[in-house]
Amino acid sequence: MGSGLDTGAVHAKMRAMAQRSRAYPDNVPGPLFVDASCIDCGTCYGMAPALFREAGDHSAVHRQPGDAAERHRALMALLACPTGSIGTDDKAGIEAAAAAFPEPLGDGVFFCGYTSSRSYGAWSYFVPREDGNLLVDSPRAFPGLLDRLEAQGGVALLVLSHKDDVADHARLRARFGCARVLHEADLEPDTAGVELPQRGLEPRALGPDLLYIPTPGHTAGSACLLLREEVLFTGDTLWWSPARGRLDASREHCWHDWATQMASLERLRTFRFRRILPGHGRAWAADTPGAMRRELDRALAALAGPS
Ligand code: SF4
Repeated sequence: MGSGLDTGAVHAKMRAMAQRSRAYPDNVPGPLFVDASCIDCGTCYGMAPALFREAGDHSAVHRQPGDAAERHRALMALLACPTGSIGTDDKAGIEAAAAAFPEPLGDGVFFCGYTSSRSYGAWSYFVPREDGNLLVDSPRAFPGLLDRLEAQGGVALLVLSHKDDVADHARLRARFGCARVLHEADLEPDTAGVELPQRGLEPRALGPDLLYIPTPGHTAGSACLLLREEVLFTGDTLWWSPARGRLDASREHCWHDWATQMASLERLRTFRFRRILPGHGRAWAADTPGAMRRELDRALAALAGPS
């Protein structure tokens, strides 16, 4: 058994998982399937596009895993799925898949997996730091994951990009004692007690390597977080769209004000970064900050056009 692995909890989740009798007919035949509880959050086809694809209003398996590495990836997607909508007839290797989270993404950032249905499957990220470990948005408070975060020093700071992605913030606070950051414009009864509410539009340093940048629009209190002038955690403000081949944002899923969101995207042009890690949509990295800036300009031009 791997360190910190809660095998019982892993299997408890497996028991609550997808039902073959509810599997979509557009899954290709084989042991891996998606069932009708899928909310089309995009996590599985973001993690394993060779195996899962978007199929209208849900995900489906378009190719069965062909080797051990693909089986492992499929099982990681199964565990990351917020709704337990992915099933498999062969559960061998599930412990190794659980132990693979948090998953290193480079630049000292880890993907937590274990997304929450309460944040519609938004991705959360873990960053070990000398000044105290950082969590960006909340994963599902899965015991095995929390044990592994604790084994890496726990969480000192939990930065919440906006009110939709707070998920299990209270359980994380209870477990790690982390200070929670959320813009006051997004405070709700559940988050009224966060330790470090933010105000206004001015960026604020949260550490020598961390800059909190209010970017209202998607919600009134949306924000991005800049790590070392390299990585920008964007919440639901900005992401990469493989279908459009560019950076993107959504007028349709803008809950506060689109003009405000566009102004926030304009302001992001003044910051230096070369990689974005969003809550939804795909991550993307440019070779240089200049190349990222050009991509942002291209997106702004496209987004300024007719919807
Ligand atoms: S991760 Fe789960 S809920 Fe999200 S698209 Fe895949 S099957 Fe659906």
